[in-house]
Amino acid sequence: MIDGVGRNIDYIRISVTDRCNLRCVYCMPEEGIESIPHERILRFQEILRICRILADNGIRKVKLTGGEPLVRRGIADLAAQIKAINGIDSVTITTNGVLLEEMYDQLADAGIDAITVSLDTLDTEVFRTLTRRNEAERVKRGLAMAIKKGRVPLKINCVPVMGLEKQQLSDIALLAKDNPVHVRFIEMMPIGMGSQFPFVREDELRAALEKNFGLFTPCDDVAGNGPCHYFAVEGFKGRIGFISAVSHKFCTECNRVRLTAEGFLKTCLQYDCGVELKPLLRSGASDEELERAISHALQNKPLGHSFGGGEKFAGRELRGMSQIGG
Ligand code: SAM
Ligand code: SF4
Repeated sequence: MIDGVGRNIDYIRISVTDRCNLRCVYCMPEEGIESIPHERILRFQEILRICRILADNGIRKVKLTGGEPLVRRGIADLAAQIKAINGIDSVTITTNGVLLEEMYDQLADAGIDAITVSLDTLDTEVFRTLTRRNEAERVKRGLAMAIKKGRVPLKINCVPVMGLEKQQLSDIALLAKDNPVHVRFIEMMPIGMGSQFPFVREDELRAALEKNFGLFTPCDDVAGNGPCHYFAVEGFKGRIGFISAVSHKFCTECNRVRLTAEGFLKTCLQYDCGVELKPLLRSGASDEELERAISHALQNKPLGHSFGGGEKFAGRELRGMSQIGG
């Protein structure tokens, strides 16, 4: 699919639920979050129909996200069914890892192409502070098992919040030394609760990590869906990557759209623009009508975000990251 300014859109991130078993401080408030009632969430058949239409129009890669995607029952079956759609080359998932231990084999059997585990620290207490839940050990067990079994390529996503020392970011980076996993550091984006936290610039973090591990050499040998740029580090089996939406804006190469759990096809992370597909799906719209609505939304996909450009502008996204899916 080509958008209004000629960008090729071949990737969709699908949030399958707004629910989550963690409460990361920069993503969800501790209390007062009302889960969307089940009947307002897209059913699997509806998600699959959208995926078929999108695949017919050039979408090749699908990411399942949330909320926490592993809390949605039947998620591995959904992944397998999306994989079976003609035209879809890869289906990946991003998870907080709490349920990874019990679900890893199901996901691998479903043919999932990669798993990204979001893990901000290995320290149990810091984990509890950042996620407001005492699940560090479960996540670490899931990760260790996934590394040991090695059936699916793994990546780690880490958002620096508290700084190198407190969050022990070197220990996170070290996961890529001893294991064939890629570790990616993500700059905090001012979306939802994220705007209340300072972000650690890529350049600062990279310089600090280089002091510990030696020179980071740019490399382009990691397959992926987008904006992460990677570095090779001597003695490391995996790569260290950075996703730096704030300090290294990548909107001119944007290749993606997002689908919220309620069926809003979102064309830019920062703006509330796109199209509500659920009313169309539930009122008997034909595939052609859905296609037209999607294509119209894409023609109006914004040129880019304006993080740091003032928070008060028309059309700013009011959904939180847990509703968008990252
Ligand atoms: N629950 C799953 C997880 O944590 O991996 C999937 C959904 S979560 C919203 C997807 C990713 O978004 C996670 O890696 C999380 O760290 C990241 N994220 C959440 N809020 C963010 C923010 N304000 N800026 C940057 N990344 C954020
Ligand atoms: Fe849940 Fe993921 Fe948000 Fe953390 S980042 S609260 S795990 S959705």
